[in-house]
Amino acid sequence: MGPPCSITQLEIMTAVPSLQPHLSTPDSRSFGHVDTWIFDLDNTLYPHESRVWPQIDERITLYIATTFGLDGLSAKALQKYFYHKYGTTLRALIDEYGIDPYDFLDFAHDIDHSDIELNASLGDAIERLPGRKLILTNGSQKHAENVARKIGILDHFEAVFDIAAADFVPKPERRAYERFLEKHGVEPARSAMFEDIAKNLVVPHDLGMTTTLIIPKTIDPFREEFEQTAVEAPHIDHITNDLAAFLVERAPLLDKPA
Ligand SMILES: [Mg+2]
Repeated sequence: MGPPCSITQLEIMTAVPSLQPHLSTPDSRSFGHVDTWIFDLDNTLYPHESRVWPQIDERITLYIATTFGLDGLSAKALQKYFYHKYGTTLRALIDEYGIDPYDFLDFAHDIDHSDIELNASLGDAIERLPGRKLILTNGSQKHAENVARKIGILDHFEAVFDIAAADFVPKPERRAYERFLEKHGVEPARSAMFEDIAKNLVVPHDLGMTTTLIIPKTIDPFREEFEQTAVEAPHIDHITNDLAAFLVERAPLLDKPA
């Protein structure tokens, strides 16, 4: 267990992230018993400097503008409304307008991957985690594979559980996690979940997982600020702004393969 955290430490971590890369809450769950490692994809396995999310966000705006005949500003406003009311734009489009989710996902994820950097230290840490490794994403499987391949970590994962596998029910809804656990035969009490959106860790923690919130080293201008600051909450065991370094310091890594 790391040092107990206080508001002051959280404030320092958010304001001057380089000074305090990891925090653990006083009663934080540990990793010694964990045999299944579950990772969100976007903004968790790569930093916002990879310019993945801003492009997807732009593609979604364009999809809305085209579908509803709106200008960019109006489309953006509608997108924000969808996000806040339904959790994802896709959920709103399916529930309210009956759109084909696969068309939407292909369109939204048609992005340039050239700014995604190979992350050898993250790959090394994930490879050395003892047990199964899975990706749990509100995006598509193809998107997750494209991105994870570019980071150089795809081969370390047993499977990607994507939004289609979740029957288009997104995190943070409980049903999304239940479907994931059932499909992959995962025991939540022996699992750890890593995620950049705090509310997506509420159900995992409730189910018994050890939870880690990933925050960016520098504020991402393309996302809402409340989604990327250190959050003190009972459902968050650990906070880090450097996932690879965190795993090396706090997870029971196996020796490097020869
Ligand atoms: Mg994410």
